[in-house]
Amino acid sequence: MNEKTVKPASIAAQALGWVDDTTKALAPPIHTSTTFIRDPDNQFRSGRIYARDNNPTFDQAEAVLTALEGGHASLVFASGMAAATTVFQALAPGDHVLAPRVMYWSLRNWLLNFATHWGLRVEFIDMSDADAVRGAVQPGRTKLVWIESPANPLWTITDIAVTCEIAHAAGAMVAVDSTAATPVLTRPLEWGADIVMHSATKYLNGHSDLIAGTLTTGEDSALWHRVRPLRAQLGSVLGTFEAWLLTRGMRTLFPRVRTACASAQAIAEHFARHPRVLEVLYPGLPAFPGHAIAAKQMRGGFGGMLSIRVRGSDDGTVSGETAAIATAANVELWKRATSLGGVESLVEHRASVEGAGTPVPADLLRLSVGIEDTGDLIADFESALQRA
Ligand code: PLP
Repeated sequence: MNEKTVKPASIAAQALGWVDDTTKALAPPIHTSTTFIRDPDNQFRSGRIYARDNNPTFDQAEAVLTALEGGHASLVFASGMAAATTVFQALAPGDHVLAPRVMYWSLRNWLLNFATHWGLRVEFIDMSDADAVRGAVQPGRTKLVWIESPANPLWTITDIAVTCEIAHAAGAMVAVDSTAATPVLTRPLEWGADIVMHSATKYLNGHSDLIAGTLTTGEDSALWHRVRPLRAQLGSVLGTFEAWLLTRGMRTLFPRVRTACASAQAIAEHFARHPRVLEVLYPGLPAFPGHAIAAKQMRGGFGGMLSIRVRGSDDGTVSGETAAIATAANVELWKRATSLGGVESLVEHRASVEGAGTPVPADLLRLSVGIEDTGDLIADFESALQRA
């Protein structure tokens, strides 16, 4: 397959058009060997020594993702958290990093509770505000700016190009958690980012049956040279079968994401006008604060994730929080569960998960839109809302 002449959707569908040389199989083999034979003259001409670093089953998943992101190289990890924390651990104690106030909560907690004790100077700012980034970045001292766009679970949009310009002028690298956008909608490297991270547990795999993470670099940078050996050193390695599942999942990435986007847009528009809804947070709504930037840097849709803030009763006896939890309790087709990016639609009362210090309002339900019939999804949520 000529990656330069075919569209990313074709690259994904055929996993780069790979065919096994020996058997002519279209689906790749799973290599379970942890070790590889040494040549009689003591060399490893195969390039492989031990599967903690050189598992052949990783190759295809990494190559497909590199092509989809338009990058230089990728690495698969045991989880999205393993991928993200490896980037921070490739820095040195004393380095200053900027992270968004609205971001995946578990990574925020790790930055607060581990990374700062380990010596990183982490500053949380409103990453959607370019002036805030300009004001916080310290030339020569800030080594990394972490972006998440859209940011879970308020779906705050950050202008990747503008943030990269500011960061690079100060000598900092930029990493983007692009889990919610997926390479279908946004290719952060094209907007100037240095590293793209995904929780591949979500859309890249898409079937809620695998925990995985990925990093893709735009260039063979010094940062990448520190990241690469860390995967093997920390041992945050993806399982062989999981790597194979990830390649299989990515084959249907485009139709899954396109279906979820179309449905999420319709659901957001429907409930934005609903009397029992206080607010719908979705980058595809023209009234959403980051809409114009999202329209610039997201192609073909605004993602499958949205959040709905539920109104309390008119007489004030039922709070928005109680009504939101009751709505989640009433759904039948939607599933009450954490995570996102799978083929099945999920709803979650996010403040209960994130606990103290969360920027998430108590009346907010996070919705991950799957690929079911849009009308069925609207009808089920509507009925749950009415009965709450
Ligand atoms: N980033 C985002 C935006 C996420 O939603 C998640 C998980 O929910 C992660 C990172 C962490 O990924 P994982 O659960 O695969 O470790």
